[in-house]
Amino acid sequence: MDYSLYIDGKWCQAKDGKTVPVTNPANGQVIGSAADATAEDVVSAIEAAHKAFPLWAAKSARERSEILYKAYQLMLERIDEIARVLTMEQGKPLAEAKGEVLYAADYIQWYAEEAKRVYGDVIPATYTNKRIFVFRQPIGVIAAITPWNFPAAMIARKIAPALAVGCTAIVKPAEQTPLTAGKLVEVFHDAGLPAGALNLVTGSKPSMIGQTLLADSRVRKVTFTGSTPVGKLIMKQAADTVKRVSLELGGHAPFIVFPDADLELAASQVIASKYRNAGQTCICTNRIYVHEDVVDDFTEKFVAKVKELKIGDGLEEGVQIGPLIDEEAIKKVDRHVQDAISKGAQLATGGRQLGGLYYEPTVLCGVTDDMLIQQEETFGPVAPIQIFKDEKEVIQKANNTPYGLASYLFTQDIARAFRVAEALEYGIVGINDGAPSTAQAPFGGVKESGMGREGGKHGLEDYLEIKYISLGGVDKK
Ligand code: NAP
Repeated sequence: MDYSLYIDGKWCQAKDGKTVPVTNPANGQVIGSAADATAEDVVSAIEAAHKAFPLWAAKSARERSEILYKAYQLMLERIDEIARVLTMEQGKPLAEAKGEVLYAADYIQWYAEEAKRVYGDVIPATYTNKRIFVFRQPIGVIAAITPWNFPAAMIARKIAPALAVGCTAIVKPAEQTPLTAGKLVEVFHDAGLPAGALNLVTGSKPSMIGQTLLADSRVRKVTFTGSTPVGKLIMKQAADTVKRVSLELGGHAPFIVFPDADLELAASQVIASKYRNAGQTCICTNRIYVHEDVVDDFTEKFVAKVKELKIGDGLEEGVQIGPLIDEEAIKKVDRHVQDAISKGAQLATGGRQLGGLYYEPTVLCGVTDDMLIQQEETFGPVAPIQIFKDEKEVIQKANNTPYGLASYLFTQDIARAFRVAEALEYGIVGINDGAPSTAQAPFGGVKESGMGREGGKHGLEDYLEIKYISLGGVDKK
């Protein structure tokens, strides 16, 4: 399967004809290719988006909504085809890939509906001869740079609200997962999106593509999902043209089990939160804190479930843990495990590389603050358990990180649930819930996990400018 660039409503090769191979992390086989964009191609995409902006923005909200709604329907019709490609280039089990396509489609449906609800304000003025109005208008051309771990959802979450309000977009997906991006763009093309409203640039030179997009003053906003170091670089580069910036960056989620928690629920939810996509999600549990009174009971239930997880090629029936994305990922996971063991942690299960890009689902007990795994995002199938004694101590530990994306707490005490949720310095808190992401809710982080929100009514604000209009002379006849 091969995808070219999509610029101004047409599929086209890179100017120099170069392509980049796409491999399946489950077996290393080449499964297709994507065009390797040049700087000239990126500029063509900007020109197309810039030309299309006034036309797309001038359409009625209902017209934009109808095209998004059609795209949503096409996503559902093509779910099997898109999910298969997603699994083949990214590695996640097919059932998870289908879940991701549905999740991506949810955003498109949600914003097809929200497109009609971009309201302004009328504010009472101080003087009787004046009227004050606030309009909300689309920002303009936006650039969306996305990661490999959710190749469908991260694109949908950005372009659905952008297109809904009248922005035009240039999408740059991760080098490992351009084929799913191609499938999504095909969906919008077939849904009748006008030429130039959505453009796709793929390639092997992210820094060139990023710089070209960021240096161009016609691009009014950049929305980025990926690692914190690249996010910081993008924020700096956006400063020269004072672009609006949204960043969805790394996480280091704590998962806190209080002594009054439903331990069966906590054990099953941490499986969902930790091992989804083999631990390669930004809201994955990265540190598990369990109260000393229940740690043995919780660990027994949890480890029994981890031992049952089936590992293998995501296309095989019943597989729950696929390969990691590349060699670097395997090395990082193993470094975290070996470092923890060398500092006194005990392996409750797992801890082995299984050949290729597979790593055994692992649980570490007796983890302490000085271990790497308690300080960095692991992005792999390793669950470290640390014991705590009291609420104040665990809140302090949970917040002791530069990250602030997702956090989880399990308790049956409603007062504790709210007290702790309010004290956690995180953009998202799951109370007795290990899977809080949904199209209706604002997803995003604080501190070095980013800025801006995706999803829900809040997700529209990131693509809108506020315009204040003052009308004078109203009392003159
Ligand atoms: P990454 O290396 O930062 O890459 C993300 C995207 O940025 C890719 O498209 C990448 O292109 C591009 N990129 C890399 N260097 C760039 C540069 N100098 N200028 C412009 N673009 C550049 O992140 P990743 O490894 O793909 O993704 C994993 C990270 O994403 C984790 O930290 C995870 O927590 C985070 N994440 C966050 C969220 C969230 O919502 N907060 C969601 C998912 C993932 P190439 O692929 O060509 O390198």
